[in-house]
Amino acid sequence: MAAPILLDLLWPIFLLIGWEHVSIVPNRNQFLRLQFDFYPISHGLVAVIGWATLYAAVYFGVTRYLAGAIVIWAGVVSHWLMDLIVHLPDLQLYATSRAYVLGLWNHRWLAIALEVVLLAIGAWIYERQTRASDRIGLYGYIGFVFFLMAAYAAVLIGPPPPSVKKLALVALLAWLMIPWAWWFDKHRTRRA
Ligand SMILES: [Zn+2]
Repeated sequence: MAAPILLDLLWPIFLLIGWEHVSIVPNRNQFLRLQFDFYPISHGLVAVIGWATLYAAVYFGVTRYLAGAIVIWAGVVSHWLMDLIVHLPDLQLYATSRAYVLGLWNHRWLAIALEVVLLAIGAWIYERQTRASDRIGLYGYIGFVFFLMAAYAAVLIGPPPPSVKKLALVALLAWLMIPWAWWFDKHRTRRA
C-alpha cells in the first residue's frame, strides 16, 4: 500500500519544509486546482527511481523477500508512470526539466472514469485474492474502499484548499492508509 503512494506520502512533508512548491489556482481547468510548480524531490523521475530503489533495498534487507522487493520497486515507479497519463505538463524528470505528459486531467470525465475504473479493478483483484476471516477483515476493507472514494469525491467537488499549508496537512492524512490497510489485511486470508 505504501509503495504506490510513497511519492504522495513524501510530497506534503517537502511542502511543509519548503523544499517543494505548489500553487493553488482554483480554476486552472475544470478539474484541477493545483499547479505543481516544483517537486523534483518527490516526483522527479530520477528521484523516483532513487526512492523506489531505496525502499526496495530496505524492504529486502529486512525481509529477504526478493519478489516483494521487486513489487515494491515497481509500485513506487508506477506512481510516476500513472501521473504521466493524467498530469498537465508539470511532471518533472529532475530539477528543471519537464516530462512529456498526456494531460488527461484536461478531460474531466475521461480522467474520472479511468481513475474510478482503476480503483474498482484493484479492489476486485484484492477481493478475489483474499477472504475476510472476521468482521474486521470485511468491514475494515469495505470502509477503506469507501474512504478512498469519499476522499476522491471531496477533491473533485469540495472547495479548493484554503492554503498550501492546510493542503499539505490534509495530504498527510494519506499516511493513515498504511496502518488501516495493514489492520484489515491481517484479518483476511489468501483464497486457495
Ligand atoms: Zn503523486
